Amino acid sequence: MKIVNVLMFLILVFCSLKTATSKELNIYSHRQPYLLQPFLDAYKNKTNIKLNVVYSSKGLAQRLASEGKNTPADLVLTVDIGRLYIYKDKDLLAKINSKILNDNIPSHLRSKDGTWFGLSKRSRVIGIAKNEFSKGEVSTYEDLANPKFKGKVCSRPGSHVYNRALMASMIANNGYDKALVWAKGLINNLAKRPQGNDRAQIKSIFSGECKIIIINHYYYGKLTYSDNDDHKKWANAVKIIFPNQSKNDRGAHINISGGGVAKHSKRKNEAIKFLEFLVGEEAQKLYANVNYEYPINDKFERPIKLKKLGNFKEDKLYIEDIAKLAPKAQEIIDTVYW
Ligand code: FE
Repeated sequence: MKIVNVLMFLILVFCSLKTATSKELNIYSHRQPYLLQPFLDAYKNKTNIKLNVVYSSKGLAQRLASEGKNTPADLVLTVDIGRLYIYKDKDLLAKINSKILNDNIPSHLRSKDGTWFGLSKRSRVIGIAKNEFSKGEVSTYEDLANPKFKGKVCSRPGSHVYNRALMASMIANNGYDKALVWAKGLINNLAKRPQGNDRAQIKSIFSGECKIIIINHYYYGKLTYSDNDDHKKWANAVKIIFPNQSKNDRGAHINISGGGVAKHSKRKNEAIKFLEFLVGEEAQKLYANVNYEYPINDKFERPIKLKKLGNFKEDKLYIEDIAKLAPKAQEIIDTVYW
């Protein structure tokens, strides 16, 4: 009897260990931990699965590649299609076929081969100084290169992934030669050397240094609803323009936050379930409420606090094309010293 009891005990211990490990997932993330935490908490509440995050702004793809089959990683989360595509390009992502992912993510915002998936959207928009321009005077990305705006435009350096993606979208839509001419015009219009982050551009309109800026839309939301009164004042000086909205035009350039399942994950099914959770109603609301990002699918409610910005039309370019054009975009950025 005693031996049976011991055996039963050992079997119980073994089973509980097994569930303990399957109750955890490991994420390699380029997203800052404070932005991920609300999602991790919501998932833990729902499923009791603990998500461990290895966060780094750089080097995670190299790490995943060098770990090979021994990697502890189950998922990769990042912002910007350029960064996400690197994982696909290095063959670090599993191919997934999930009806929930396919139904909830528009086809231009997920990989055709099921490796990467967009999870939320951000638009690279134009901000203008309030009361400086007549209605419609600045309405397209192409306008940023109009010589009449000489000395008015400001932006962070061109090599930042956000600007490189915008540059790539200009190449995709207008061709390399026109994109180069546009970039030269943009540089000629700069009020100062490209510097600072997107928040700094908003501040530069408040300070009067700049009249037209290029920013990701959610920074406007973050500053508008900041606890810091100065931030609110900066944002209040700016009017947001979603570019290229006229009837026959392509719409505003968008980028994604996204992710995929690590090719050598030992818990692929659980990892897929987490991605499916991220494109469900609860998580999509979090993207809107936590970071003012737009849901990946317009069937979900957009950030209530950004409602006054109105609806906008997005450029439906297959977003992987932007990642593929990144080297060409960088070539132009280097040529014009953006
Ligand atoms: Fe950002």
